[in-house]
Amino acid sequence: MSPLLPVADALQRVLGSARPPGETRQRPLIDALGAVLAKDVNSPIDVPGDDNSAMDGYALNAEDAGKPLPVSQRIPAGSVGTLLEPGTAARIFTGAAVPPGADAVVMQENCKEHNGVVTISTPVKAGANIRPSGQDITRGAVALTRGRRLRPQDLGLLASIGCDAVEVFRPLRVAVLSTGDELIEPGAGALEPGQLYNSNRYTLAGLIRGLGMEFVDAPVVPDDPQLTGLALQSAAAAADVVITSGGVSVGEEDHVKSQVEKLGQLDLWKLAIKPGKPLAFGSIGQTPFIGLPGNPTSVFVTFSLIARPFLLTLQGVDDVVPLAIPAIADFTVAKPGIRQEYLRVSLEPTERGLMARSFANQSSGVLSSVSYSNALAVIAPGTSVAPGDGVEVLLLDLLS
Ligand code: AMP
Ligand code: MG
Repeated sequence: MSPLLPVADALQRVLGSARPPGETRQRPLIDALGAVLAKDVNSPIDVPGDDNSAMDGYALNAEDAGKPLPVSQRIPAGSVGTLLEPGTAARIFTGAAVPPGADAVVMQENCKEHNGVVTISTPVKAGANIRPSGQDITRGAVALTRGRRLRPQDLGLLASIGCDAVEVFRPLRVAVLSTGDELIEPGAGALEPGQLYNSNRYTLAGLIRGLGMEFVDAPVVPDDPQLTGLALQSAAAAADVVITSGGVSVGEEDHVKSQVEKLGQLDLWKLAIKPGKPLAFGSIGQTPFIGLPGNPTSVFVTFSLIARPFLLTLQGVDDVVPLAIPAIADFTVAKPGIRQEYLRVSLEPTERGLMARSFANQSSGVLSSVSYSNALAVIAPGTSVAPGDGVEVLLLDLLS
């Protein structure tokens, strides 16, 4: 039997085979959440455009701060003042351009205005409470680079430089085939003995759509070699990537692997990962193929660890590795394993740091272990863990 492939090696091989995307399209900025920039975006302007006030207060020349100052003008946000006469102050509001001749703003809480004359109760330094022009982004600078998956704050940043449309990569079309004679779609009636509802289709639809990609749906594939082959072919024709669930193990009813070998090629199979050992990767014709295991928890873990970075790379994203953060184990792994294990845990903040409590039932069939957790604790092969040990965790929210 060939040895199990370590997760890091599998990931390197999978990512190495990912071809960069070609097609791009213009998208209105307001609809571009989750899309991936196909080009760097340079700023045509300084943001902010003027030196402006960070406070409601008075603009003045810092050297004048000790004397009573007549208020010579009033500058609300959106309007521009005139040259500040020496020995006077301007009433100014947050966001308004600081007038020429003024080099500081004093917050109104530190000022007293009486009969049109303001006195200031604090020392004032030149530059105080002024947001200098270009402090956010300077004209000509790259605001965001190609490969950025646009988050809400990125949309705001692009709007702030006057951008209203972006060139993005076409969303990847990802076909999902659920295999198994035992599967029934929810809504298709009550379960007969031996049947179960097709949960993987829903988990995968959510994971794929959560990445901003197009979920290409398909009916359940029966455990039959011919029908499996036909379903794989039509999925490969309809999508950029084919993902299957189930049917990649070693049983006589597992036909996905042999059909992929017939229609294309299988590049790797069997990872040192728990849950999710029987993961397969290859191609059907020119279309990349990922065969996920059938167990619902294995689907979630292998998708998150292997399929997700692969899909994001195909989509043109430059940053595909999820951030691992340190936590403290509140559990025991007594026996070191030969596979890298991903335990479903709940993180709770404590005085000592983030405490990771493991879900009681870690069986790969128990999908509630994923639903009721908020992170995966990564246990490297050959490692045992005692309560209080440091562990790395991956936040589930950062895997979408
Ligand atoms: P398999 O790899 O096909 O032997 O499937 C492994 C386990 O996962 C079996 O218990 C299957 O019933 C279960 N399973 C396979 N596909 C699905 C699915 N789409 N939804 C829920 N459970 C599944
Ligand atoms: Mg099966």
